[in-house]
Amino acid sequence: MGDRTMAETATTTSRVHAGTPARSVEPARAADAARAADAARAAGAAGAPLDPYRLRTDFPILNTVNRFGKPLIYLDSAATSLKPRAVIEAVDGYNREYSSNIHRGIYEIAERATGAYEAARASTARLLNAPEAAEIVFVRNATEAINLVAYSWGRRNIGRGDTIVLTEMEHHANLVPWQLLVQEKDGDLEFIPITDDGLLRLEVYEALLHLGPKLVAFTHVSNMLGTLNPVRRLTEMAHAAGALVLVDGAQAVPHMPVDVQAIGADFYVFSGHKMLGPTGSGALWARRELLEAMPPFLAGGDMIREVHLRRSDWNEIPYKFEAGTPDIAAAIGMGAAAEYLMDLGLDAVQAHERELTRYAMETLRREIPSIELYGPEAGARGGLVAFNLPGIHPHDVAQILDRSGICVRAGHHCTMPLHERFDLAATARASFDVYTIPEEIDALAAGLREVVRIFDR
Ligand code: PMP
Repeated sequence: MGDRTMAETATTTSRVHAGTPARSVEPARAADAARAADAARAAGAAGAPLDPYRLRTDFPILNTVNRFGKPLIYLDSAATSLKPRAVIEAVDGYNREYSSNIHRGIYEIAERATGAYEAARASTARLLNAPEAAEIVFVRNATEAINLVAYSWGRRNIGRGDTIVLTEMEHHANLVPWQLLVQEKDGDLEFIPITDDGLLRLEVYEALLHLGPKLVAFTHVSNMLGTLNPVRRLTEMAHAAGALVLVDGAQAVPHMPVDVQAIGADFYVFSGHKMLGPTGSGALWARRELLEAMPPFLAGGDMIREVHLRRSDWNEIPYKFEAGTPDIAAAIGMGAAAEYLMDLGLDAVQAHERELTRYAMETLRREIPSIELYGPEAGARGGLVAFNLPGIHPHDVAQILDRSGICVRAGHHCTMPLHERFDLAATARASFDVYTIPEEIDALAAGLREVVRIFDR
C-alpha cells in the first residue's frame, strides 16, 4: 500500500480489486491491515515485493459472490488453491488448440502437446532447482507420489524388521502408504514426537536414528500446526545414520523457495493443485540413480522400451513411471503455475504469507481472547492457522462463517493422529496464499466474533 492512506486503500480496494471485502473493514482494523500489507511488501524487498491487491485481478473466481451475495473470502488454500488466469488459459489452450496425445504423434498438434508437456516438466524442475528435468515424474498429486515411492522403492528395499521413521505430524498421505508397506513386509514404523508448541523433538529423533532406519519421511510444513521443519538438518542427520529421506512438500512448494539440492533429500513430493495449478497434477522428484534402480509403479503403454509376449523392458526415466496417457492438460497447467510463482518470486511469496500469518495470529488473539491457536509462533511456520473456539464445534464455526462468504476448513485435516496427540476431535483452519489480504483476516476475526456472540446467547 506504500504511502497510501487507509481511506485511499479502502476505496482503491473496493473499486479496483476483485472480490476485496472492503465493506467489512472498520477504520482501526483497516489501519492495522494497511500496516501489515506494507510490512509484507517491505519484507519482500530482496526482489520485487508481492502486491496481493494487484494480483487478485489474475484470479477470476475472486469476482464471484455466494448465495447471500457476499464476495468470496477464500481462506482454504491449504486444501486447494485458487487458479490464476494464466493456468486456466494454459489448460484451455491445450483443450482448444492442440488437444492430442503426447510422445507418439508426428503431426503438428501432437508435437506441440509433447513440447508443452515437457516444457511443464522443465518449469517444475526449475521451481525445485532439480538438477535435471528427467528427475521429475508427473503424478496426480502428492499422495500418488508417496505411494509410488512406497510401492516401487519400498517393496524392493524394505524387508522384515526394517524400520521407517515418520513424525507425529504427518498427513495421512505420508502415513498410510508406509503402514501398508510395513504390514506387508513385517517392518516397523517409529515416530518423532512433537512438543506442545508443535516442534519436532530432535533429541528423540537422534535416538531413533540409532535403530538404523532405512527411510525417514517427514513433512516440510505441517498442514495443521503450520510448523516449518528444519528439513536440511533432518536430512543430514538421516543420511549420517544411513537412511534415505522423503520430504512431503505439499504445503511448502506453493509458499516458499524450495531447493531440493540444498535440502539434500532423496525424494521430494508435492501437489500442483495447492500451488495455483489444476487438480490432477503433482510431481515426484528423486535422484536419478534412485529412479533408475526402482522398478516401475504402474505398467502399460509409454513406460516401456520393448515389449514381447512374455517380457518387456522399461523406458528411460521419467517415462518409466508415467504409464498410460497422463493428465496432459493438468501437467501443462502446473507448468504455467510454476512459471507464475517464479515470476512473483518465491521469496516475496514467503515474506507476504509470513506477515499475514503474524497479523492473523495477533488479530485473532486480540479480537477473540478465548481462541485457541495451535502450533509454533509466526516465523517458525507456514501460512496457516488452526484454531478452536472453546465449546463450539469447528463445523459450526465453518458453517456460520460461510454465510459471510468466508471459507475455512473444519475437521481433522487428514491428520487424525496429530489431533489425538493434542487431544482434539477437530479444528478449524484458515490458510493463506498469494492473493490473501489482511482485510480478509479482519473479516475472519469479525466472523468469529459473530460466532461467539451467537453461541453466547
Ligand atoms: N501432505 C500434506 C502436508 C498435505 O497438506 C496434503 C493435502 N492436504 C497432502 C500431503 C496430500 O495432498 P493430495 O491430496 O493433493 O495428494
